[in-house]
Amino acid sequence: MAWFKKTRKPIEPQTDKSSRVPEGLWIKCPSCGQVIYNKELTINLQVCPKCAHHFRMNAADRLAMLFDDGQWTEHDADLRSTDPLSFTDTKPYRARLKASIASTGRNDAVVSASGLLDGMPAVVAAMEYGFIGGSMGVVVGEKITRAIEMGIAQRAPVIVVCCSGGARMMEGTLSLMQMAKISAALGRLDRAGLPYLSIMTDPTTGGVTASFAMLGDLHIAEPKALIGFAGPRVIEQTIRQKLPDGFQRAEFLLEKGMIDYIVDRREMKAAVAHSLRIMMGLPPSARPVASAPPADA
Ligand SMILES: [Zn+2]
Repeated sequence: MAWFKKTRKPIEPQTDKSSRVPEGLWIKCPSCGQVIYNKELTINLQVCPKCAHHFRMNAADRLAMLFDDGQWTEHDADLRSTDPLSFTDTKPYRARLKASIASTGRNDAVVSASGLLDGMPAVVAAMEYGFIGGSMGVVVGEKITRAIEMGIAQRAPVIVVCCSGGARMMEGTLSLMQMAKISAALGRLDRAGLPYLSIMTDPTTGGVTASFAMLGDLHIAEPKALIGFAGPRVIEQTIRQKLPDGFQRAEFLLEKGMIDYIVDRREMKAAVAHSLRIMMGLPPSARPVASAPPADA
């Protein structure tokens, strides 16, 4: 009866491959199926040239995209987590940190930098999803706080590019405290009369959404980015209601007034520069503002 039996393929675990920056020479777009040459994708800022699907982008490429000529000065690059709780889940937190440091070449999940953006001094902190899901622990909190304080000291606007699964549970309450610490620093930036822009990319969730992501003078999101606090399944089970289509996507949040506008990544630098000029009371840019692909493209 062996011929009668239907052999089933084992169900693959749900992995979020769709928006991760893939490796290899050719990449198939998860949205339209187009096969794209990797280099072409890099030059196009990790956006599918056919359907404009936004692949995930690392922190360094984000900074290269925003700062003039892809030049910036990194700050506090050597701050590292000390694993204050000696935490272990399926594996020790120390081992997770070590693996993430090795794979990303970063000491934690945010890169903070200063430089010129369309000729204006600016401070940008870009989150690195490849480092434990871009989660916010003590180091991320401290680096973003210092970036905001640098903005105040230099009279420069502050931009945070959010890309995070939320607070880093391996640091317990200490990670949650960062929400209040960053929010307080943003209050000081506000009192200093300087703008803060929050750029929400896929995904912006948990404690990051519950603090600095949603405290911007302007909220800019990338198309179709997942932005929310708790995941949809948790909400459905709690309120016992079916959630509407497109729930927690950037377009849905725009409709509900949670964000100010959605910008294609290829237009992001121009949109940020234009907004900053208005907010800082500066004249419009004399030349067209274009986002640069990373230098190694
Ligand atoms: Zn596509």
